[in-house]
Amino acid sequence: MGAVYHLDSLLETPNEPYELINTLLKNPMISEFVKDEVPVRAEIDKDAAKEEQMRVRFAVTKMIKTWSELRDVYYSKKEKERLVKEGKYGSVDEIGTQLASLRDQMSTKYGIKFETDYVELEYSAKLVPDGKRCRMEKPYFKNILFVGDAAGRGIFVGPRIEGLNVGIDDAVRAADAVARALDKGDFTEKYLGEHYSQSVEESPYTHDLKAIDKDYLKIFLDAAKDVPKDIISSKYGLVVKMMSSDTLRSFAVGFANILGYEKLLPIIETVDTYVKVPTELAERLGKSISASYTPTIPSIAQRVAKLKFNDDSSSHIKVLKPTSEFMKKMVTLCPTRCYLMEKDGVMIQHEGCVECGTCSEETDWKHPHGEKGINYQYG
Ligand SMILES: Cc1cc2nc3c(=O)[nH]c(=O)nc-3n(C[C@H](O)[C@H](O)[C@H](O)COP(=O)(O)OP(=O)(O)OC[C@H]3O[C@@H](n4cnc5c(N)ncnc54)[C@H](O)[C@@H]3O)c2cc1C
Ligand code: SF4
Repeated sequence: MGAVYHLDSLLETPNEPYELINTLLKNPMISEFVKDEVPVRAEIDKDAAKEEQMRVRFAVTKMIKTWSELRDVYYSKKEKERLVKEGKYGSVDEIGTQLASLRDQMSTKYGIKFETDYVELEYSAKLVPDGKRCRMEKPYFKNILFVGDAAGRGIFVGPRIEGLNVGIDDAVRAADAVARALDKGDFTEKYLGEHYSQSVEESPYTHDLKAIDKDYLKIFLDAAKDVPKDIISSKYGLVVKMMSSDTLRSFAVGFANILGYEKLLPIIETVDTYVKVPTELAERLGKSISASYTPTIPSIAQRVAKLKFNDDSSSHIKVLKPTSEFMKKMVTLCPTRCYLMEKDGVMIQHEGCVECGTCSEETDWKHPHGEKGINYQYG
């Protein structure tokens, strides 16, 4: 599960990125969607001999640990395949069967119950490009073609989140350009790069990237046109009422497009839009939106502790301007709290870095050496 947030907004009003994901997790619609189960120990028989109480306590701890570790493995394609390759299990299905059998033993042998809760497997963060602002004008360099995120191409605005489609569309165009270059044995910029660049220019996504302001407002208005006006708070109600009239709407859309979507976002992207209105709509349609549990959300320290790193003793990030405003904001904006404010300015502790790229704008940022750095288990 991921939250997409605008870096510019966060730079303007620094907020810890994990707080945003935590807010999302507490939204009842999301909590219900991501629920899992956690084991809860039964009371130990206090009348039993002390040795027996110790034995049971130890056995339960061991069993819960084995089950939790195996479940983490079961959810990771990479880890499952490793265990099968190492001969610890005959097949992936066998891991599933073992997991079910352990769960069964936990209940029958030790009276362990299972409660609904949120279980986070792996925490991560990544900077995705807003193609409106940072797409490469020509997505090639010499005979290297850039695709999707690498070319700074993606549509990320309001309800339109289309990095995958853009990346796939670019990749098809790049493959086509490479096939053509292979046929002719010509990998010059003119034959390969320019052909790809022109093809990308013709992509419907490139058109949308350029016209996103107009699209954004249109998508929002179309989505909001049937929403009962009394649900929308008075602040926006008047605007939406105005937009319902065809004459006023074209005038208002024109005006909004002059303002630009950076100014529209904070008005439209609110708790009202994403939580209050959908919840009230569902309730009017007879479906109550409430969570059946309160998710236990790990702290940032617990999240980082669960990640797997191949430690690099030297830092892949060098702070260039320790007292700049941007770097000061990184103390709050780094998703794993790698930056600290010291007497002489901002300092980095690179060990917990998840290589999201957020701080790259004002640092000397390189990927960690070889296979060092974060080692994701789930994607
Ligand atoms: C939280 C979040 C939510 C999102 N939600 C959506 C959504 O709902 N819909 C949507 O369309 N898009 C969404 N996106 C964006 C989307 O995931 C990306 O735009 C898309 O995956 C980009 O595809 P890509 O192929 O360009 O790059 P990537 O998917 O990033 O692929 C690049 C690959 O290269 C690998 N790589 C990097 N360096 C090396 C190296 N040195 N050697 C070998 N391999 C390397 C990486 O591990 C990665 O697998 C979301 C992104 C985030 C972060
Ligand atoms: S140090 Fe920089 S790249 Fe690493 S997690 Fe923090 S902001 Fe992201």
